[in-house]
Amino acid sequence: MSDASAPAALPIIIQLSKLDVQIATLAAQKKKLEGDLENRRQVIASHETKKASREKFLGDKKNLCAKEEKSVKAERDKINERRAALNTLNNYKLQQAAEREIDYTAKQIGQREDLLLGLMREIETLEKEVANMTGVINGLNDEFSALHKDSSETIKGLEEQLASLNKERAEHASQLAGQTVLIAYNRIRDRFPSNPVVEVANRDSCSGCFMKLGPQVIVQVSRQDVVKCPGCGRILRLAAE
Ligand SMILES: [Zn+2]
Repeated sequence: MSDASAPAALPIIIQLSKLDVQIATLAAQKKKLEGDLENRRQVIASHETKKASREKFLGDKKNLCAKEEKSVKAERDKINERRAALNTLNNYKLQQAAEREIDYTAKQIGQREDLLLGLMREIETLEKEVANMTGVINGLNDEFSALHKDSSETIKGLEEQLASLNKERAEHASQLAGQTVLIAYNRIRDRFPSNPVVEVANRDSCSGCFMKLGPQVIVQVSRQDVVKCPGCGRILRLAAE
């Protein structure tokens, strides 16, 4: 391939760089929207995990409460039966002793009933807490749905623009297919996605890193050679008129 028949590389590189900057900007917008959605998804998931653990705790308390309620009721029934049977004891002393024992047991049951009431109050508080958590999660889910709807449309639009820009880019890049200049440019673009090609400022320095350029470099740039800034490695071009 002779130099005369090959298309000039620099204008194509400049064109590619303009497209690449647009592609990078749109891709960053898309990534940000997707990241925001993902963050919100994680926030909701963490609320749901907390709620599930609270619900488990509540369930355990309810089971404990039901068991204790049953057991206290059985004890209470037993005591009532024993109290009813007191009259059948014909020995006064035995009767007295049995009555004292019954009173003592009844007192203990009373203490268990107090604890049970405390447990019931605790369950009530936990139920309110879980209900609040559900409210918060529902609110977050509503917000998420609305945002997801908006973002999905925006992301779809960005994807369409990106597809068309990438198609346009591929057409320009195909003109330099297999050439080292394209490989070199792609590397520079990966390092400097927002400005892989920079202008020469004041006809003597790189506007990317402000390094003073030698006269030889300026001559090469003026000749439309593909020249890298010796300071930062970006491709140099003359300032647009
Ligand atoms: Zn530079």
